[in-house]
Amino acid sequence: MSAQHEAGAATTHRVVILGAGYAGLSAAIQLASRVKRGEKVQVTLVNAQERFTERLRLHMTATGQRLAELSLPELLEGTGARFERGWVTAVDADAKTVRIDDERVLPYDTLVYGLGGVADTAAVPGVEDHAYTLNSTQDAEVLADRLSRLGSGTVVVVGSGLTGVESAAEIAERHPELNVVLVGRTEPGAAMNPKAKAYLRSALERLGVSVRSGAEVVKVLPDMVELAGGESVAADAVLWTSGTRVSPLAAAAGLTVDEHGRIVTDAALRSVSHPEVYAVGDAAAIRQGYGVMHGTCQGGMPTGVHAAVSIVRELKGKRPKPFRFGYYHTPVSLGRHDAVVQFTHPDDSPRGLYLTGRIAVRYKETVTASPWPTWGRMKKMPASGAFWPRGGRFTRVREAR
Ligand SMILES: Cc1cc2nc3c(=O)[nH]c(=O)nc-3n(C[C@H](O)[C@H](O)[C@H](O)COP(=O)(O)OP(=O)(O)OC[C@H]3O[C@@H](n4cnc5c(N)ncnc54)[C@H](O)[C@@H]3O)c2cc1C
Repeated sequence: MSAQHEAGAATTHRVVILGAGYAGLSAAIQLASRVKRGEKVQVTLVNAQERFTERLRLHMTATGQRLAELSLPELLEGTGARFERGWVTAVDADAKTVRIDDERVLPYDTLVYGLGGVADTAAVPGVEDHAYTLNSTQDAEVLADRLSRLGSGTVVVVGSGLTGVESAAEIAERHPELNVVLVGRTEPGAAMNPKAKAYLRSALERLGVSVRSGAEVVKVLPDMVELAGGESVAADAVLWTSGTRVSPLAAAAGLTVDEHGRIVTDAALRSVSHPEVYAVGDAAAIRQGYGVMHGTCQGGMPTGVHAAVSIVRELKGKRPKPFRFGYYHTPVSLGRHDAVVQFTHPDDSPRGLYLTGRIAVRYKETVTASPWPTWGRMKKMPASGAFWPRGGRFTRVREAR
């Protein structure tokens, strides 16, 4: 425990935020900015790295493109929030402590859990040993190195969700010397309207990506993937983007989790078993009128902001309000020169409206680049971070007052 944490612990309300991703960082900046000078609230943000990981751009990292150096301690400057670099190894929900790097222990009064999620490498044999992932900047850089050395051959991208589509397109564009095969259960762009889906499909064709839909990968070997039914696809490199796995820490701490290990929250984003724990972003199972939210940055940032606002309300003796969120778009990059943006209903079903080509590229880039300046603005004007679509009738519930 640091000296700063020991001093004044009896009177200061300690909020520890785990994970400086899109959700945790939104919570930290929103909360620190709302805490007035003189209020005895200490905000500590814990993250594995000092550099912000732009997960939305990891397919660019995987193809050797350099991203901006975004420093978390620099962003937090002037907010009063402390930054603690380290790997969270345990949460003790009874003692209300967090263990970092197996050596430091941070006590908390309120915990915000935002450790995100990664591709599920445990579900299929051979993935852990032979497949690359985009689970971290380091993982993406290892893949970039491999791709740059291949010279020729086949890259199999497993998972036809949006991460798989963006990765296959990016690799095909950056490495025209390689064959890229996108393998997945569903059609790429399955959740889009037929015209947007057709556009996405023709863009993949133009880039030379071969698509294998309706295929289930059952094993990854050093030089191939095996499909259900016995067929195999030769591979000089396999990128695994399928499924989602979250940190086992929440379940190990005894917090109520769903079948995917995500923390089950009440309407205000508090753990249903431990109300002093807020869960945000991909690590949380958050139910809305249309179902449980799926992991996105567009939904993750509002969860962080809402948790911060709720903590401030609770500190003032007020009840937190229910969280409401409705999806509004699915922007998908198709290399650096093409994209498709599907506008959606709040339940994430596709509208008729979509963008393609250069305007979609600009839209996608604006969205991808926006979190960092948004946090900069939030430091000065916390309320500026509190605007997002609430979902209208799709999320309306009887609000607690
Ligand atoms: C290639 C790619 C493209 C994507 N494109 C889009 C898109 O266009 N739009 C969209 O909405 N979403 C997109 N996503 C999904 C989006 O990135 C996630 O939904 C979002 O990052 C979730 O935010 P989060 O804060 O919950 O978690 P993360 O952003 O994953 O942040 C979690 C943080 O916790 C840290 N952490 C984890 N475990 C520990 C530990 N034990 N100790 C210390 N630190 C830890 C991590 O290092 C990380 O900094 C994309 C994802 C990928 C991989």
